[in-house]
Amino acid sequence: MKAHDGMYIDGAWRDADGRDAIDVVNPADGQVIGQVPAGTALDVDTAVRAARAALPGWSATPPAERAARLSALRDVLVARKDEIAETITAELGSPLKFSQAVHAAAPIAVAGSYAELAATYAFEEKVGNSVVHHEPIGVVGAITPWNYPLHQIVAKVAPALAAGCTMVLKPAEDTPLTAQLFAEAVHEAGVPAGVFNLVTGLGPVAGQALAEHPGVDLVSFTGSTAVGRRIGAAAGAAVKRVALELGGKSANVILPSADLAKAVNVGVANVMSNSGQTCSAWTRMLVHRDQYDEAVALAAEAAAKYGDRIGPLVNAKQQERVRGYIEKGVAEGARLVAGGPEAPREEGCYVSPTVFADVTEDMTIAQEEIFGPVLSILRYDDEEEALRIANGTVYGLAGAVWAGDEAEAVAFARRMDTGQVDINGGRFNPLAPFGGYKQSGVGRELGLHGLTEYLQTKSLQF
Ligand code: NAP
Ligand code: MG
Repeated sequence: MKAHDGMYIDGAWRDADGRDAIDVVNPADGQVIGQVPAGTALDVDTAVRAARAALPGWSATPPAERAARLSALRDVLVARKDEIAETITAELGSPLKFSQAVHAAAPIAVAGSYAELAATYAFEEKVGNSVVHHEPIGVVGAITPWNYPLHQIVAKVAPALAAGCTMVLKPAEDTPLTAQLFAEAVHEAGVPAGVFNLVTGLGPVAGQALAEHPGVDLVSFTGSTAVGRRIGAAAGAAVKRVALELGGKSANVILPSADLAKAVNVGVANVMSNSGQTCSAWTRMLVHRDQYDEAVALAAEAAAKYGDRIGPLVNAKQQERVRGYIEKGVAEGARLVAGGPEAPREEGCYVSPTVFADVTEDMTIAQEEIFGPVLSILRYDDEEEALRIANGTVYGLAGAVWAGDEAEAVAFARRMDTGQVDINGGRFNPLAPFGGYKQSGVGRELGLHGLTEYLQTKSLQF
């Protein structure tokens, strides 16, 4: 894989401040596939200064021209989609077909949506005797994880650029090659120097320096709740804006009137997809006691089919973490009906698709985000209990409800404390606001709601 040995700052690849490098490893076989520089606080400072210097020009650029750059960016992502998919497969480990269909395709849709929004959004509105201007927040510091490496970058960069902000990105240390490829795409799209800057590096060094930099006006973070909590606290102390996309423990509620086989099969697929490394995954399946045994049998059968179809986890640390959770599930008395803690292959960071039955609300595997191919199936007696269990975690990112009658599913969904609910298998919508209730986060990404995160208002009275 091609890797740059510098940082993309102010429109060019520049030497990094330090000499430390990060090895990029393919988790399917442990091979080192590239090296990128580990950024320092000085690299971050140089990048933030470049973004600051570019802000007056970019924020004053007509929205139609910003839209044209985003449209060009979308076209470059289309032209390079195979290379994107291959890079993500190499550094994340996801099967190539999934990298093409999801990891490469979703960012194209999102970049396209912001090209359109930049061109059509009313950056100026009349309210009584006032004209309200929607102005860019300023310099954005974006910190992204590895699980959907390009989607999570584009979900921040595209709305920030559409809004007229400039920015610095610190991508995950596990997937920096995708981020470098994206920087090349931004350059090819003709985005002016300094508008987008990339500093690769480690979270506690480059990430922390970016989050705490006084020249950053808004920190947008996606990742673990533990790190997000600290970033939110630091932003609060500095009185700067912050957006947090954190973890989840979403419920897949199967009401008695639902098509059970369909609900279970789609539910298992949802959890196993991307090897379970999805913040919005429906990792808790809630089934009525009368259908419980049938659902467990269906889920075990469905999970067994995923043995050869999912990729490894992103790295050995995540593999160990997930296997630890599986051991904990067994120790706390849940019943394994598929998979287990043993690694299915000698080579690579693989974990078996795993299903637990007889999971109760108080168990660790019913409460904590595992971030692996592990499904917990819980039993409920009536709808009120199902609702209590569904809402009974600190998280609230996503979820699903299945019922014979759509209105019945909607009525239940309206009572769930969560940011998104898919009704009877509703499809992912790249224009719908995405984000969490409770400890799943602060703010929304995607579509119009994602754009307004990067804007602030100024009212002129006449
Ligand atoms: P993480 O540490 O929160 O990583 C997310 C991003 O934050 C990465 O770019 C990371 O850099 C950076 N970071 C780490 N420490 C930082 C700090 N002190 N200041 C500023 N930035 C910092 O998550 P992880 O370690 O990769 O994964 C751990 C767990 O987080 C997973 O098992 C999962 O439960 C959860 N997670 C959730 C999501 C989500 O979409 N909600 C995504 C990924 C992970 P490095 O890459 O160098 O660590
Ligand atoms: Mg980390």
